[in-house]
Amino acid sequence: MARNTVRVEPRHADNSPCHHAVKPSGRPRDPQSPCTGRTAYAVVCSEHGDVGAPHHLRVLADPAATAHRQEHRATR
Ligand SMILES: [Zn+2]
Ligand SMILES: [Zn+2]
Repeated sequence: MARNTVRVEPRHADNSPCHHAVKPSGRPRDPQSPCTGRTAYAVVCSEHGDVGAPHHLRVLADPAATAHRQEHRATR
C-alpha cells in the first residue's frame, strides 16, 4: 500500500485548487491567467481527502498538515 501523503493545497474562492503562479499577495502573476487569486489553503490527505476546513493563512495550514501526519503515525 502506498504511503499516504498530506500536503497543503492552495485554493481559489470557489474551492478549486490553485496551481497558478501568484505574487506574494496571492494575486495571479499573469494578468491573462484564469486564476482568481488564492484565498485559502486546504490540508489534503491522500487517504482522507480534505482535512478540516481550509485555512485562510498558509502559516495555519502548515501546522495542521503536520498534526495530521502525526495522527497517522500515532494510529499505525
Ligand atoms: Zn489560481
Ligand atoms: Zn489522513
